[in-house]
Amino acid sequence: MSTEHPVNPEHPVQVDTGFPGGNAVIERVEADRIVLRPDLRDTIGDWFYWCICVRGAQGRDLTVQVRRDGGPGIGVRGPAVSTDGGHHWTWLGADSVSGDEFSLTVPEHTTELRLSFGMSYTADHLERFLAANAAHGALERGLLTHSEQGRPVDLLRLGNLRGAPPRRVLLTGRHHACEMMASHVLEGLLAHVLGGDDVEARWLAEHVELVVVPFVDVDGVARGDQGKNRAPHDHARDYGPEGGLYPETRAIRQLLVNTGRFDAVLDLHCPNVAGPTNQRAYFVGSEGAENWEAVQRLAAALEEETATGPLEYRRADDLPFGTAWNGPANYLSRDGLETPLTSLDAFCADHGDIGTHAVLEFPYADAHGAEVNTATARAFGAALARALAQHLAGNGAGQG
Ligand SMILES: [Zn+2]
Repeated sequence: MSTEHPVNPEHPVQVDTGFPGGNAVIERVEADRIVLRPDLRDTIGDWFYWCICVRGAQGRDLTVQVRRDGGPGIGVRGPAVSTDGGHHWTWLGADSVSGDEFSLTVPEHTTELRLSFGMSYTADHLERFLAANAAHGALERGLLTHSEQGRPVDLLRLGNLRGAPPRRVLLTGRHHACEMMASHVLEGLLAHVLGGDDVEARWLAEHVELVVVPFVDVDGVARGDQGKNRAPHDHARDYGPEGGLYPETRAIRQLLVNTGRFDAVLDLHCPNVAGPTNQRAYFVGSEGAENWEAVQRLAAALEEETATGPLEYRRADDLPFGTAWNGPANYLSRDGLETPLTSLDAFCADHGDIGTHAVLEFPYADAHGAEVNTATARAFGAALARALAQHLAGNGAGQG
């Protein structure tokens, strides 16, 4: 209680967003109370990502109000908390939340605290992963292109990098900058292949070239943008016939058309915060029955692989094209114009030599009652690697 931790006006709580991934409009800081709302910047409509750094709050009982018009701004397990500068994260827990506020007691020796909607994954995390695997002979770091703001957009290659590999897969993350939990899945997948811990990982390393764009909207990830519904349209809707607004998506198109066959293209996302259908992982179908059948074969393998893991994926949760929000309206421009927009998934249906292409939504905090965190997300990524191996081996000439 505040009687135990009296407010010291000499040392006010300081809140800032001046770090990679930082996001919030700080409306008020009053003693032990912070009022913020997500910084929407160029977002059309409303979204929920925020991430702040709090200093000078050691030993205090802190309350943070997250104001949002269009839905909750705090996830189902409360906010994510980091006491080591955003490297490691835990959920504060649902019982810390009351309405649009949460409360916590900051430990006595915690001089700097990060609080966020989710478990941040920025360039710093990728750098640590790449540094830890720098000596691995089957991992190469290349350049896809440069972003509008001049940042290098990484293009990773791992697996079979000798000449023309028997199979090739493209994995993409952060078309929507804020969707950080998908990056933990992606890192878990890559770590599993590099680790070669099971027969599927070794099969992938031997038979597949994995081509990976970990941060498609690298500027948005660094700035802490929502990215979702960015005006006039976001990166995930930038694959239309008009040619593309963003250098990253233009480069991915070229990669798909010029490289040769891709046996699978998998685009990783996180869903909306609210709604009962979003506390689970699910594939989002595009038009085209033949590809959806292929996605369902991959889905069957993933269902089996996750059945005993920490996070379950169930095929029944998928959203085939034409169900729930996944209809033609989801691909109309959000600026009120009735212009159809094109996703990477839809682009794959019409361009290049591409096998199975899919969008996978991975939840922020909860999957069928199980806790989503960095460890369980990474385990899910390993299961996804095993499912991919089975899918690709099954689609081929019996190499298993
Ligand atoms: Zn998304």
